[in-house]
Formats: sequence, structure tokens, C-alpha cells
Amino acid sequence: MLILNRDGDRGERLAMTPDRALRLVREGGRLNRESAEAVYEHASMEDLEATARVVRARHTNPGIATYLVDRNVNYTNVCITDCTFCEFYRRPGDAEAYVLSRDHLSAKFRELRDLGGTRVLLQGGHNPDLRITWYEELFSFLTTEFPEIRLDALSPPEVEHLANLEGLSTRDVLVRLRNSGMKGLPGGGGEMLDDEIRRRVSPKKTMSDRWLDIMGEAHELGLSTTVTMVFGFGEAISHRCNALERIRNRQDRSLALFGRGFLAFASWPLQHQSRYGELWGLKKGVKLGATSDEYLRHTAFARIYLDNVAHMQASWPTMGIDVAARALAASCDDMGGTMMEENVVSQAGSVYSCATEAALREAISNTGLLPRKRTTEYSLVD
Ligand code: SF4
Repeated sequence: MLILNRDGDRGERLAMTPDRALRLVREGGRLNRESAEAVYEHASMEDLEATARVVRARHTNPGIATYLVDRNVNYTNVCITDCTFCEFYRRPGDAEAYVLSRDHLSAKFRELRDLGGTRVLLQGGHNPDLRITWYEELFSFLTTEFPEIRLDALSPPEVEHLANLEGLSTRDVLVRLRNSGMKGLPGGGGEMLDDEIRRRVSPKKTMSDRWLDIMGEAHELGLSTTVTMVFGFGEAISHRCNALERIRNRQDRSLALFGRGFLAFASWPLQHQSRYGELWGLKKGVKLGATSDEYLRHTAFARIYLDNVAHMQASWPTMGIDVAARALAASCDDMGGTMMEENVVSQAGSVYSCATEAALREAISNTGLLPRKRTTEYSLVD
């Protein structure tokens, strides 16, 4: 039975078909958890995209799509967390293990500054040799040397790793990092926020509620955040809906308590060539990753379900610019960042690792939308 609740969890619950459920969403209702799986699987693509466009227009100008000129920097590939899908990390002592020097990091910041970039997204593995003072000194140095570049850094699992290493609370870690210049906590390490899947794919990594609690602490402290989702681990649609439900609940709580929450949602499929694919896909015959059409269905559904998250990014690094541009036609309003370099999904098999500002603008223009450069916090800058 399909059920849609027209007024959050307080209103009347109605049994209906997917097209009826989506029509009521277009009229202002909220899709509840009970109705989610049938709508995800059985609604027509046309209906999903039409509804996604309505939800998108409630949050953003439907005539524009935004992008950010930024850079990803992976400061270390050393990690002790052993996620089964990760091709990026190296164990401590490995011949290919690295930690970028301050000079190396400065060169990357300078390069971005020269291109007019405004944000560095600094993320890495769970390196047991890097203590919190290393981060504090580095963040103070970088934000003093490059005041025009905003520093968004780490992720909830990196924060939890540091808290465990130092015997501190995650909130105390966030306070210290914020006081050293960190402005935002990106949504890395979210993957599938369902513990049944997390125990299978990354059993040593932060579990779902903890990941979301750390993000709640970041919201309380005024840090800007995003939320990400990787799908295609061989999970059921119910796991995807569980994850979206948790995200939506966290967002409701953060908006009510702190007046701020996740700025944006981004999702992409698992990359087939990863070690995870060999471990699970080839040996057990589980279908992994997602086709372009499955990706577009997922993003349209997520836009409808996450009715309290204003922005949705199209994932050109995993899907390619053409598919990302198709996502802009309905669910997404943002192309994400230029990145300049990317080492994580590219090592798992993605072939798209950076794009010029001109390429993103052209891809947006080709959809009939106006390209607009933005800040991390989604203010328009040109
Ligand atoms: S995904 Fe992150 S936490 Fe997991 S092994 Fe790779 S670097 Fe480590």
C-alpha cells in the first residue's frame, strides 16, 4: 500500500499510487518513508522529473545552475580504516604512502588563487601519525597565508578518528579546528548511511547515527556542511530510502535547533573497477554501480525526498559532464566544483577528474540554463 503524509508526520495518511503520491508532493505534501520505495521503483521517470523540478523551484531559481571554482587536495593517503571500496589509501609504512608538505600544499593554494578560485576542500585518510596540533598549525598557516581562500576540511570520519586519537570529544575537535581557520566540514565518508551496508563495506568507519551526530555538532558550531551518498554497493532500494530518511530527519532537527543544516546533497554510484567490485561483484554476482538512467532516477527521487535540502549537486566526476547536465534538467541546480584534481574516485575507476570553469559553464549553457559562479555557501558571485 502506498501512503503519503501531506503534513510531515502529523497529517492524514493516504493510500495511493505513485502518480497520485507525486501529484500531492507537487501540491505541497511530503513523501513519507512508507511510500518511498514504491515511488522510487515504480513512478515513471517523467513524473519523477516533473516533481523534482517543482521541489527544486521551491529552493532555487529554476533558470540558473551554479558552480564553484575550487580545488580538492588530498593531504595524505595514509589510512588505517580499510574501507573495502577504497583504492586511494595506503597503509602506514607503504612505499606509496605520502603526507603533503607545507610547501607542496602552499603551491596548490597559490595555483588556485591565480585561477580566481575561492575554496579548497582538504581531505585525507585516517593517518595515525598526524595529531590534532598538526592540523591546527597547518590550518592557521594556510588561512593566514591565503585569506582569500576558504578552507573546508576533513569529514565526520576524519573528525572521529582525531577524537579517538586524542581522547577528545568530536565537538571539541571541531571547536579546535574551527578556531584554527576551518570554515566547513564537507560530507565525505557518508556513503550509504545505513549500518547494515556500512558494516559490510566499511566496518571500521563511523556508523550512520554517529556520522549524522557529528554533522549536527558542525551545524551547531556554524560550520557549513554538505551531505553525500554513494549507492550501488548491491544494496536494496530500502537501504537507500533508509539513508535518505536519516538525512532528512537530521536536517529537520538541525534547521529547527540551529537555523542551519546541510547546504547541499550530492550522490554518485560506486565505481565498478574498485577492489570492492572484485570482492563482492565478481565473486558473488551482485550488480554494482549504476547506469546513467539509474543515476538520474536516484537524483530525481532524492530531490523529492530531501525536500528540506536546498541544493543538489550533479556529479560530473563520476557520471561525466553530459549526464551531469541531464541531471540539471530536473533535480540538480549545481555542477559542484572544478576540483582541479581528484584522487579518490579517479583511483576507483572514474575517468573524469577535473574540469575547467569554461567547460562547466558551457555544459550548463547547453541545457538552456544560465551558468552562475557561486561561493561555498551558494551566494552568487558574478
Ligand atoms: S575511504 Fe577514506 S577512510 Fe576509507 S580507507 Fe579510503 S581513505 Fe580510509
